[in-house]
Amino acid sequence: MKKTLYLRIILAYILFGIFGFFSVATIISRLTTDYCVRDKARILYGEAVRISDTYAQQLYKSKVSLEEVQMQMEALSSYMDTEIWFLNPSGRMVVNSSHAPNPEQETFVENFDSTIIAGNYYTKGTFFDSFEYEVLSVIAPITSEFKIRGYVVIHMPMDNIKKDADGMLNISYMLLIILLVLSLIILLFFTEYVYRPLKHIIAAAEQYALGNMHYHIPVEREDELGYLSASLGYMADTIARAEDDQKKFIANISHDFRSPLTSMHGFLEAMLDGTIPQERYEHYLKVVLGETDRLTKLTNGLLTLNNLNTGGMILQRTDFDINAVIRSVAASFEQTCVSRKIRILLVLTGKKLYVNADLEKIQQVLYNLVDNALKFSRTDSEVTIDTTEKGDTVFVSVRDSGIGIPKNDQSLIWDRFYKTDLSRGKDKKGTGLGLSIVREIIRAHDENINLVSTEGVGSTFTFTLRRSEINDTLSDMGEPEE
Ligand code: ADP
Repeated sequence: MKKTLYLRIILAYILFGIFGFFSVATIISRLTTDYCVRDKARILYGEAVRISDTYAQQLYKSKVSLEEVQMQMEALSSYMDTEIWFLNPSGRMVVNSSHAPNPEQETFVENFDSTIIAGNYYTKGTFFDSFEYEVLSVIAPITSEFKIRGYVVIHMPMDNIKKDADGMLNISYMLLIILLVLSLIILLFFTEYVYRPLKHIIAAAEQYALGNMHYHIPVEREDELGYLSASLGYMADTIARAEDDQKKFIANISHDFRSPLTSMHGFLEAMLDGTIPQERYEHYLKVVLGETDRLTKLTNGLLTLNNLNTGGMILQRTDFDINAVIRSVAASFEQTCVSRKIRILLVLTGKKLYVNADLEKIQQVLYNLVDNALKFSRTDSEVTIDTTEKGDTVFVSVRDSGIGIPKNDQSLIWDRFYKTDLSRGKDKKGTGLGLSIVREIIRAHDENINLVSTEGVGSTFTFTLRRSEINDTLSDMGEPEE
């Protein structure tokens, strides 16, 4: 059998009940009886002292007759449910509330010894074999002129005291039962509000482990368990989404790899079986070469993204002049600009503008943005790159007046493989990975990138960088403008 939390709690509850009854029946029972004996003895002793000071004194001083005292004691003892004796120090019975002593025939308590109480004021037992049952006896001395004349002894059957104790014990049993009922209520409450939801959560965790990420946890509460199940549900949703993304990602990769491979396969097969005449070979081999370029670009993009994603990007931050980087990136596109009659305008702040970032990665960001700007620009147009500084931040913008990006696509273009419908005709070689790489790099720098674009008018991508303190040192030194 599984040792579940619930079973342990039930077991603890049963043990609690058994030990509760056991301790009430033994320890509490003994303590209650002892308490009742001591309490009764205290009351009886007070009574005995009172009798000794009044009736007994008067009797010994012959102020009242023996018969009168006998009668008083009989009344008192029946009222108190006790037996009252007056004894001489020798143990001779002077007064006995249960039956008056015969003056003709003296009765003695054999072996009477007042020290039986030994520093206490009561004793339990048969009182020198005077009773056949157990009694509680209290003894108070009767003194006159500094001499002990005798003793007032009051007896009470122990059975009477035990009855009182049993009454009190019954109260303890009742309390225990009430306690058990209350803890049963707590147990039921625990079952309903903790155990049941916990079982649902465990069932959900098992389902998630089996891969059923769409399992709904039927625990909707505003407490810790509700929070736990909501968090688990959220986790499952995230995993499910990640799985979907993964599937889409693989589907996209497969598609993007398959189309160039299919076209290359087709051309090469046609060359081999003679469908393509030899004089057209050069043209088709160039097409095949273009396709291999595209595959290389795709593979490189995927590798870059993978490197950027795994375990957080490690940045090699340095202070460098962003203006210089922009100039060199712009220069690398010279050939494209000439062939498509596009001018790149640089509107740069200062001669040098130092930023603190990973030079190579920012170079890649600029390269991807300028590449896109040129790809989606019309022939004979302009692309502007500008830098501005505001406080500790440097803003870099790449603006084109090309096809623009439709509003609905603007939040999606950052996803891997996403391409707008507008761009598909213009750029067949695009991989849809460039902007994902840009976003990952900017995120790793803890910076921002944003896009303002109007369909048919153009797009502006602006990203931020941390301004380097070197700028201040250089301007303090009054560095001459280049
Ligand atoms: P790629 O350019 O390789 O297709 P990107 O991730 O760089 O991949 O861009 C994703 C898509 O965003 C492009 O296919 C294009 O549809 C759109 N896009 C990006 N930059 C521009 C731009 N400057 N003008 C218009 N559309 C753009």
